[in-house]
Amino acid sequence: MRRVSAGEVVEVLDGRGWSALASFEPSANRPALVRITETLPPMHRESSVDLTLAIGVLKSDRFEWVVEKTTELGVKTIRPFESTHSVARPSAAKQRRWQQIALGAVKQCGRSVPPTIHSPSTFSEILTDRPSLRLLCSEHGSATPFSDFARRIEQPKTVTILVGPEGGLHEDEVRSALDAGYQAISLGERILRAETAAITAVALCEETFSRR
Ligand code: SAH
Repeated sequence: MRRVSAGEVVEVLDGRGWSALASFEPSANRPALVRITETLPPMHRESSVDLTLAIGVLKSDRFEWVVEKTTELGVKTIRPFESTHSVARPSAAKQRRWQQIALGAVKQCGRSVPPTIHSPSTFSEILTDRPSLRLLCSEHGSATPFSDFARRIEQPKTVTILVGPEGGLHEDEVRSALDAGYQAISLGERILRAETAAITAVALCEETFSRR
């Protein structure tokens, strides 16, 4: 939260896709006025691709960092999940804090709709979604480099990126994801932290699939 001075132009939004520029007119003897000076295009600065990040729940500060950075990068939905190797068990209050962090990132980066952040689900619940493109981020050598993959893929309507928790996904979970139509992609030969993999994959998908 920061102080706004008289005459300063601010961006206001309703959180559902409407936003506008407004001038702030404080007054000593009545509530301050916020005068709309220009309505911005609907869904201003929202990505054209419907991107979901499904990620194993991480330790608190790391997960909050993923929420903030992937919001800046345009993610539409974040679906944390608990899996075999999950170490964190977040409380319900955490979800409210995550939503607040996302709203702060939306205001900072000038988006007009905050991403939806779900409460943690089970891994199998994640696999029931049917996005048009399902990407499993895999640190194993057999995965296709994203660059090779992106060259031959058609423009998807909805994308889900799946990233494991700090301890990675159990081999049975990897197999279930592949059986559910996920395609394993590599983000390079190095073993990335889950939060690094999440942010890298979201940025690559946004840059590759989003149309301005
Ligand atoms: N099992 C390893 C790595 C887990 S990293 C360990 O215990 O250290 C957590 C997640 O980040 C992985 O499940 C995977 O989804 C993603 N990841 C890490 N490195 C990656 C890479 N080079 N390419 C794609 N995804 C990667």
